[in-house]
Amino acid sequence: DQIRTRKPDWLRVKAPTSVGFAETRKLMRRLNLNTVCEEAACPNIGECWTQKHATVMILGDTCTRACAFCNVKTGMPQPVDPLEPEHVAVAAGELGLQHIVITSVDRDDLADGGARQFVRVIEALRKNAPNTTIEILTPDFRNKADEAVRMIVDARPDVYNHNLETVPRLYPTIRPGARYFHSLRLLERVKQLDPTIFTKSGMMMGLSEERLEVHQVMDDMRSADVDFLTLGQYLQPTPRHAKVVDFVTPDQFKSYGDIARAKGFLLAASSPLTRSSYHAGDDFARLKAA
Ligand code: SF4
Ligand code: SF4
Repeated sequence: DQIRTRKPDWLRVKAPTSVGFAETRKLMRRLNLNTVCEEAACPNIGECWTQKHATVMILGDTCTRACAFCNVKTGMPQPVDPLEPEHVAVAAGELGLQHIVITSVDRDDLADGGARQFVRVIEALRKNAPNTTIEILTPDFRNKADEAVRMIVDARPDVYNHNLETVPRLYPTIRPGARYFHSLRLLERVKQLDPTIFTKSGMMMGLSEERLEVHQVMDDMRSADVDFLTLGQYLQPTPRHAKVVDFVTPDQFKSYGDIARAKGFLLAASSPLTRSSYHAGDDFARLKAA
């Protein structure tokens, strides 16, 4: 049991103390923006914010769902902030971002699931930060997905990310509000609507998934034409959340990454500290330059 509660050395990170970290935090507070870096208690915050890479979380800090792995608050969400799109664009400009990742809480309470706010953010960024490439990481939009995805695809983000998070067997416990094939179809639909948009998905490891199940998810993603994959170690944010079942070793992660590339993913980031948005800009820039 000890191995499950004690983090292995490869997951230890330094406490964030840099000037860049403090400046990024100040900017987010001033513009009234939430970040998934803070809300999800991401272990990479010291490293990313030092380099002024942050992932903005739009549509408030309160989610209408309660996934077993996620540290984001659940409850009655706030009204949509009409100034948010402009504030995101200002943040991208002030941080000097070449690439920005935008995500959101789930807003099952809104008629469009929050899709229109994604569109407004993309439009504001295109206008005010035209050289910044845009990656969005969206919820599954449940029964509003057809319309929501069409709306967002029409706004033409560079990368459309939606995480499958885990293997289908674990959905009822880990992602109870979601359906595996619904998420997979969402990714497929993005590609069908606009093949020039890169699609991306990812999974958390360490929740008892078997190797063959992981391979199957990769095959499912490739059959939906998903271009980029991220795999990282799940960490339990608080004792209330799902427990870590195993710590996948760096070598195992490397092997998953090699298999993913062999299966045809254009980018595969696979390491204990990989997160959806970890080094997303660097990886994307490298791919574009190649
Ligand atoms: Fe934020 Fe992503 Fe970096 Fe984590 S990996 S700190 S969520 S930008
Ligand atoms: Fe967290 Fe997203 Fe689940 Fe909401 S839907 S609880 S933000 S993972």
